[in-house]
Amino acid sequence: METVFGPNDSWAGVFVKRGNDMVVIDVNEAGLVHRSVDRLFITHPHTDHCHFHALSHVGRVHATREALEFLDRVARGRIDVPPRDRLLPVRRREPVGDLEVTPIPVFHNSVGCAGYYVECPDITVLVTGDWCGGDGETVDRLAEYEPDVIICDGTICTDGTLPDSVELLTHRLEMIRERHGENVIIYTNHQAAPVLEAVSRVFGEFHCFTDDPIVGTCRLLGVKYRKYEGEGGPIVTSFTKRYEEGVEAVAYELLSKPTVPTDVPNYQISRSFHPPSPDIKLLIDQANPRLLIVHHANRRRLKAFQKHISETVECRAWPKEVNNNMKLAVRASEL
Ligand SMILES: [Zn+2]
Ligand SMILES: [Zn+2]
Repeated sequence: METVFGPNDSWAGVFVKRGNDMVVIDVNEAGLVHRSVDRLFITHPHTDHCHFHALSHVGRVHATREALEFLDRVARGRIDVPPRDRLLPVRRREPVGDLEVTPIPVFHNSVGCAGYYVECPDITVLVTGDWCGGDGETVDRLAEYEPDVIICDGTICTDGTLPDSVELLTHRLEMIRERHGENVIIYTNHQAAPVLEAVSRVFGEFHCFTDDPIVGTCRLLGVKYRKYEGEGGPIVTSFTKRYEEGVEAVAYELLSKPTVPTDVPNYQISRSFHPPSPDIKLLIDQANPRLLIVHHANRRRLKAFQKHISETVECRAWPKEVNNNMKLAVRASEL
């Protein structure tokens, strides 16, 4: 008997299976094939990982306590959340037959986000879920497990020919500065700090303001954020794109940051909470996996990044051929 694993499609959803023991992590539309699954592990309550209709078909749902409380409090009544006795906070080590699942807190713009480390007798697999290195700690936490395989969020991964979030933000700021002159104010939360730090290398200094009470000093930027007191503008708010409907809209309300004054020009920049390529490379560097599988991106991006990784990092990157739905079943013995 050997372990077989892989993404269920090119977006979200992963399985790790050994005989009758199966760990299924996340389910999106395409993952409805697993509707009869007994136990589902959710990385976070964004709807592309925790699909409305699929949820009601699974036996038990495991996630962090915060994510389950969120589902129960916010999503119940809107989507088919299983009854409370089927929502089970994932324990530090959750056995599934011969397999064992460990949640790892990761940084992302949702509630109670976790990646999962799956230990099998013949292989270890780390499933990141959506994440980015924005807190300065997530890469370390993920890498600590030194898994054989990493199945990673590649939403904005790039081979250098496609823009990453730093590039996008820089481009947008240049456009705004052209229009309004030098006095651009970045009104942000601390989560955008790594991106802003990179942008500042290109763009020079800029002022950062926030009234996020938890900020304090941002250790990455080394900037003490201040409360905005009407210093003028234009103002750029750097948050991730706001979702308009479903659970995510409610999530956003709950997590919403104070809005900026409306009497000055105000631009919004979508700031991704997915790992730019340097984050992924850092993770590979530290965790030293034997195989990297990137999903959660379009085919063009996945192909380009896979090639890039194979050429620049000593790690095999799959899939070699990105097919339409990217259903992959890799056998442990193939490594
Ligand atoms: Zn997400
Ligand atoms: Zn996602």
